[in-house]
Amino acid sequence: MTFSKTSRQQTIQDLKNEPLDLLIIGGGITGAGVAIQAAASGIKTGLIEMQDFAEGTSSRSTKLVHGGIRYLKTFDVGVVADTVSERAVVQGIAPHIPRPTPMLLPIYDEPEATYDMFSVKIAMDLYDQLAGVTGTQYANYTIDRNEVLQREPGLKADKLKGAGVYLDFVNNDARLVIENIKEADELGAHVASHVKAVGMTYDAQGRVNGLEAHDELTDETFKINAKLVINTAGPWVDKVNALNTKAPKHETLRPTKGIHLVVDDSRLPVPQPTYFDSGLHDGRMIFVVPREGKTYFGTTDTDYTGDYKHPRVEQPDVDYLLKAVNNRYPNVQIKLADIEASWAGLRPLIANNGSSDYNGGGANAGKVSEESFNHLIDTVNNFENKTAVRGDVEKAISQLKTAHAEETTNPSQVSRGSDLKTAENGLLTLSGGKITDYRKMQPVRLI
Ligand SMILES: Cc1cc2nc3c(=O)[nH]c(=O)nc-3n(C[C@H](O)[C@H](O)[C@H](O)COP(=O)(O)OP(=O)(O)OC[C@H]3O[C@@H](n4cnc5c(N)ncnc54)[C@H](O)[C@@H]3O)c2cc1C
Repeated sequence: MTFSKTSRQQTIQDLKNEPLDLLIIGGGITGAGVAIQAAASGIKTGLIEMQDFAEGTSSRSTKLVHGGIRYLKTFDVGVVADTVSERAVVQGIAPHIPRPTPMLLPIYDEPEATYDMFSVKIAMDLYDQLAGVTGTQYANYTIDRNEVLQREPGLKADKLKGAGVYLDFVNNDARLVIENIKEADELGAHVASHVKAVGMTYDAQGRVNGLEAHDELTDETFKINAKLVINTAGPWVDKVNALNTKAPKHETLRPTKGIHLVVDDSRLPVPQPTYFDSGLHDGRMIFVVPREGKTYFGTTDTDYTGDYKHPRVEQPDVDYLLKAVNNRYPNVQIKLADIEASWAGLRPLIANNGSSDYNGGGANAGKVSEESFNHLIDTVNNFENKTAVRGDVEKAISQLKTAHAEETTNPSQVSRGSDLKTAENGLLTLSGGKITDYRKMQPVRLI
């Protein structure tokens, strides 16, 4: 039966009557990714979403599929490799959704700059190596100050040294979720929106064997039986885990809020996505993205405890972003009255991963081995002293990649920044991660 509003009642009947192998709570990208992989593996799968599909964080992102180039500043190659290689896979699966779009990274001669012209080239070369785009039309390059200002005359000229240009992808986050949900349904999963998990059911040994679910449209409460239940409720995972009254509680998340603001592109014309240091001495970076006649920019990163369904854009968020953008585009001076739209989302950030403006792993995320790291540093020093050539640096970079490739052969490894936990009574929880690596964090191979 085609997945549609009219098939929903039948789906709910199926959820009530057919015992499942796997029941997924949450229809954002994480749940949708698990559903498609499980259904494709022949696992009898159900998924319930209490709102519309993707109505949580998965429609409120910066809408990029990318690897987080800034992590290369600290050589967090593991984080970047996970995501940047997935970028290509996601594009292969859904070429109509993420679009290859070179990103401009202006470089300023400022004490707290993430990159200078030399280190940005190293980072971009490594990024391209990990992504497999070296030597293609999408290979990175640098441009000088004059060319940057030709492309983006509004950018601050003072202390501008030039820019790096490297490949990333502009995404349609909610659509990616919907396509996965539809495909999961076609593969036989029973998928229903506006159905909320309100309680757990248990077998005689106290193990979770299903859910009590509430149909938010008809007000009916019913039971769903499943051998395994997985909580993929994004920022809500701790709230869903609180329904599991027969297991000890462990707080997993420290949700943080991120907002974006939208202006007409005539107010902030940028020919390509641009990514720069905030300039506000907080080590953060800001994206400015052109899209369909508008330009949006973000994001912020502040601890959040309010209403999870309706996080709001507040004055301090707006003030922060306007300050950062107006600092980089001094002749533009965006004002409150220019803002046409906005959105706010909650990062399902793993509590001990530390804060991150791009939801990836924090400072402890997988680094390269000390040996290969030291070798790269030595080679870069030699290059600067003119006792090594560029090819030596590239070789050292590719050796870093080799070190990571060995690491990733461990089959139990899920994406860094994400977390898979099993409660004592069997409830699985999968949280964290990013849209970019949603496939990599899915645990079906572990079930
Ligand atoms: C500001 C910001 C910018 C970001 N930018 C990017 C980016 O550019 N690229 C990128 O790759 N990632 C980005 N991310 C990260 C990415 O958006 C998230 O990691 C991802 O969307 C999380 O998906 P999820 O499925 O885990 O959570 P969600 O999308 O929130 O899905 C969880 C779902 O569970 C449902 N739910 C909750 N409780 C229940 C219940 N009791 N019963 C049934 N359903 C329930 C919710 O309604 C929700 O739809 C960004 C995040 C933020 C906040």
